[in-house]
Amino acid sequence: MESSVLAYMERYDYENVFLCQDRSVGLKAVIAIHDTTLGPATGGCRMWTYAREGDAIEDAMRLARGMTYKYAAAGVNLGGGKVVIMGDPRKDRTEALFRSLGRFIHRLGGLYITGEDVGTTLREMEWMRMETPYVITLPAAWGGAGPISGATALGVVEAMEAACEEAFGTPDLKGRSVAVQGLGAVGYEAVRILTERGAKVYAGDIDAEKVRRVVDEFRAEPVADPNAMATMDVDVYCPCALGATLNDDTVPNLRCQVVAGSANNQLQAERHGDLLHERGIWYAPDYVANAGGTIFDTDRLLPGGMQPERAMENVRRIGETMRRVFAIAKSEGIPTYLAADRYAEHRIAEVAKSQALRRASDVRMD
Ligand code: NAD
Repeated sequence: MESSVLAYMERYDYENVFLCQDRSVGLKAVIAIHDTTLGPATGGCRMWTYAREGDAIEDAMRLARGMTYKYAAAGVNLGGGKVVIMGDPRKDRTEALFRSLGRFIHRLGGLYITGEDVGTTLREMEWMRMETPYVITLPAAWGGAGPISGATALGVVEAMEAACEEAFGTPDLKGRSVAVQGLGAVGYEAVRILTERGAKVYAGDIDAEKVRRVVDEFRAEPVADPNAMATMDVDVYCPCALGATLNDDTVPNLRCQVVAGSANNQLQAERHGDLLHERGIWYAPDYVANAGGTIFDTDRLLPGGMQPERAMENVRRIGETMRRVFAIAKSEGIPTYLAADRYAEHRIAEVAKSQALRRASDVRMD
């Protein structure tokens, strides 16, 4: 972090940063609360071997802010938060540690709601749920939504159709060539949906077994070098593996007209989003395109509790959201990644206004 924590908080308008320590179980964690205009700060629990305390604080803060934008753009009424634990997920994931963290989260009284993230699984969510109700990602048997990657994949394909409409004049995926990089939980489902919609799918993964599976099940075309997929000669590049695949090496050499995938942080730096814009390539901003799982997961907070049909309907609306983002990009002449931020900021500002009205009407004169 290039400045003090409070200066960083002021720059990006954070509300709180909490440090949690419990020597008896070896817990050191940071809970960052970015913005609660839309609702309780929510975001996953990451466990990572941070070299320095400052790195953990910065990561928690950066990720919390990302969640504010993700929920705002997804139409979900939650704010942005995150907890990071300084630890090694291969050996430090003990029941005692997570129950202790669960108690710290409970102490915040619902200001922060946690979930699964890098380095944690549903098992740790169960342990935290023993101490607090403020856990969103849970197995279905614990009242959670269960697997969410199918919803994420559906949202990605809806976003892809919106981007194809800009690039090719029609959202129809029939006959479009799509390179799906990464055939894990989301990529596999994406190949399934794309095949159903008539696309010609090229599929690659560093795990040959996963490639064989989609070739057998969906007649996808296998790709020999999964690392070189960004620059394939296809209509659409669909990154569903790691982040930062849009970088100095790839963006100048892209041959596709559309990028739409599930991977987080696809742009290595913002300038790569600027370059995509200059090159006329339609980039579906990652946090908008991959929000399907989040929308599905948080449906249980809506009236009546979890309703899968309603949840999937809201996931399909990602296409509509993407069209609004593209409209902002066109009318303001800005790259799509910036347009997505504008869209999210606008929603937060509008809700803040209506909250101010509500507060004004709450004033009692007696
Ligand atoms: P996953 O771990 O199930 O799958 C990732 C796949 O990518 C694996 O099969 C892996 O072998 C493959 N891979 C790794 N490096 C590769 C490379 N260089 N080239 C090709 N393939 C490679 O993960 P997932 O849940 O499918 O998520 C995929 C991406 O989408 C991640 O970036 C994740 O953060 C993001 N995402 C996932 C969800 C969700 O619902 N699971 C939601 C939002 C964002």
